Amino acid sequence: MNDIFTKCRNFTIVRQLIESGIYPYFKELESEQAPEISIKGKKFIMFGSNNYLGLANERKIAAFKGREAALIYATGYQMNLGVISALVGKGDFAVIDKLDHASILDGCRLAQGELARFKHNDPADLDRVLKKIGPRHGKLVIVDGVFSMEGDLSPLPEIVKVCKRHGARLMVDDAHASGVMGKRGHGTCEHYGLTSKDVDLVVGTCSKSFASVGGFAAGDENIIHYLRHASRSMIFSAALPPASVAAISKAIDIIDEEPQRLKKLWDNARYLMKRFKEMGLNTGETQTPIIPVVIGDDEKTFMLWRMLYDRGLFTNPVVSPAVPPKRALIRIVATATHTREQLDRALDIFETCVKKVLKKKPAVLVK
Ligand code: PMP
Repeated sequence: MNDIFTKCRNFTIVRQLIESGIYPYFKELESEQAPEISIKGKKFIMFGSNNYLGLANERKIAAFKGREAALIYATGYQMNLGVISALVGKGDFAVIDKLDHASILDGCRLAQGELARFKHNDPADLDRVLKKIGPRHGKLVIVDGVFSMEGDLSPLPEIVKVCKRHGARLMVDDAHASGVMGKRGHGTCEHYGLTSKDVDLVVGTCSKSFASVGGFAAGDENIIHYLRHASRSMIFSAALPPASVAAISKAIDIIDEEPQRLKKLWDNARYLMKRFKEMGLNTGETQTPIIPVVIGDDEKTFMLWRMLYDRGLFTNPVVSPAVPPKRALIRIVATATHTREQLDRALDIFETCVKKVLKKKPAVLVK
């Protein structure tokens, strides 16, 4: 069985440099970026400004995700480009859900290996695709933990079983699950009770619940070590500025120390879902605070968006290719900071407008 992570285990050159004391990269600065800096209590005159201050924060992200190590990229988009292109080499396969985020697809396009896709949230189809690829190729299966357009969850326990059966590695993009899913908001692995033995790599963005900018990858130390030296989108692009890193760090503290926010988020999400269902609207398969109201027709969706907008309700209309053709929708995202009064006002506006827009064809309304 060809394991796609073999290249990470065989990557020993840097370990040799570290052991012999001449490894020069990723030094953690204790001072601000200035002509004189300090590293581990020692002063240096700075002639090699790399502006790398993210290491302590990487440890925080690793702990948040229950992994040995983590790595920070400038954005979530760059993370997917860097991680996938580093891992999926010649002769390997990236195997992705058809509705995976665009940045995952772009990462696959950049990789030197092959791309295969399976039907959305369909472990049986994944099984078929992996069987077809066979044991001679390294395989990395990549799914969104929470799908960003419709808020549905990847059926990870079943996906894990299929991956294990075929010796494929599994990477989960938790962009929309971090700070949202699981008892403490640590993501889809926490939600399902899965560990690093099940999901090999957890990745995501810092631009959502972490209230900053950046992307992260968390996993076993040897995988992260490899990515640190093979992810071109990280190595050849600027590091995050310290202010963004500090914001990520603070957001993680707040998620852990103020669980009432998570509770409020879910109270709000459940309330909205209940009321939308009572209106008879099609809200797809969402199990998260991302609530899609499926309209179907692009034009009607834009008309509804405009009516909502004119009445003071800001929403996101979503059309193909972000969703399959004829599945245009209005995407609504509940947050922890909405008041009940705001939710009720929004629901009233929505109900009035949706009835008007869908009058001609009420059939598309009902599931
Ligand atoms: N992955 C997923 C699942 C996303 O939804 C997004 C975009 N929000 C990204 C990656 C890219 O993240 P970023 O905006 O930080 O580039």
